[in-house]
Amino acid sequence: MITGKTRLYGIIGHPVGHVRVPMSFNDRFARDGIDGVSLPFDATPENFSAAVRGLQAFQNLGGFVVTAPHKQAMVALCDEVVGEAALVGAVNTVRRDPDGGLIGDLFDGRGFVQGLLAHGHVVAGKRVFLCGAGGAGNAVAFALARAGVASITIHNRTESRAHDLAQRVAAAYPSCETRVGPKDPRGFDIAANATSVGLLEGEQSFDVSALTPTTLVAEVIMKPEKTTLILAAEARGCPAQQGKYMLDYQMDLIFDFMRIQPARQPA
Ligand code: NAP
Repeated sequence: MITGKTRLYGIIGHPVGHVRVPMSFNDRFARDGIDGVSLPFDATPENFSAAVRGLQAFQNLGGFVVTAPHKQAMVALCDEVVGEAALVGAVNTVRRDPDGGLIGDLFDGRGFVQGLLAHGHVVAGKRVFLCGAGGAGNAVAFALARAGVASITIHNRTESRAHDLAQRVAAAYPSCETRVGPKDPRGFDIAANATSVGLLEGEQSFDVSALTPTTLVAEVIMKPEKTTLILAAEARGCPAQQGKYMLDYQMDLIFDFMRIQPARQPA
């Protein structure tokens, strides 16, 4: 039941028809007895700034998640940008503090890493092949470096973006060997897709047919749950991590950041 005391949360993007955040939040609110509600906010890039300023004006707003295409634009609208968001230059979570200040952080990459760890995969010391240097690629690269991988070899269709990402990760995490490489995942411990290739049926971001079955193949794409890459990796006998876990394992981090406390212990 929504009451006069209900705290407001949401996800802002364009479009928003596909987002899962309201369900994830509202399920948790029900489970943990939290008087909150999460809504989808569809704002075009032209109206984004006005939409954020409108949300910020609400005393009972707890915070909101930011999705495509607004993650970069959100940086300039925050009063403070912290954590990985400051390194990557993109915000996916905003907390509204009691004084009205908007604090932004980025949990995409940490969700990806947390998903791997929660499924028993070791990350520290591993050699990573990363396909993609867009928003997701940036988030995943910085989070993997922070988690202590030995090396990251980045491939991106537009090579200049791969070089730019490699340089920034190397500057932030000098102990992680970071380089640009060809689209070849052989010889790595972890091979990750962080491109949008795989959203369409039959598309596959890189070839796994010559991988040894010890290579972990990981995906950022959430829909379909099993992309062609994941299906091919499983057929090859490789452990495979679906993209949905990247979001699932962000939830604890996002709730902590927004300071949402359970009213009762989960059953
Ligand atoms: P983005 O910033 O637009 O980057 C897109 C990436 O895909 C770039 O590396 C781009 O290469 C590459 N790409 C696109 N089309 C390609 C093609 N035909 N061939 C080769 N490379 C291609 O998008 P993003 O924000 O990184 O999102 C990428 C995917 O990650 C989306 O599917 C998104 O839903 C998913 N994602 C998932 C989560 C999660 O929690 N699971 C979180 C964030 C994002 P160029 O640089 O050459 O264009």
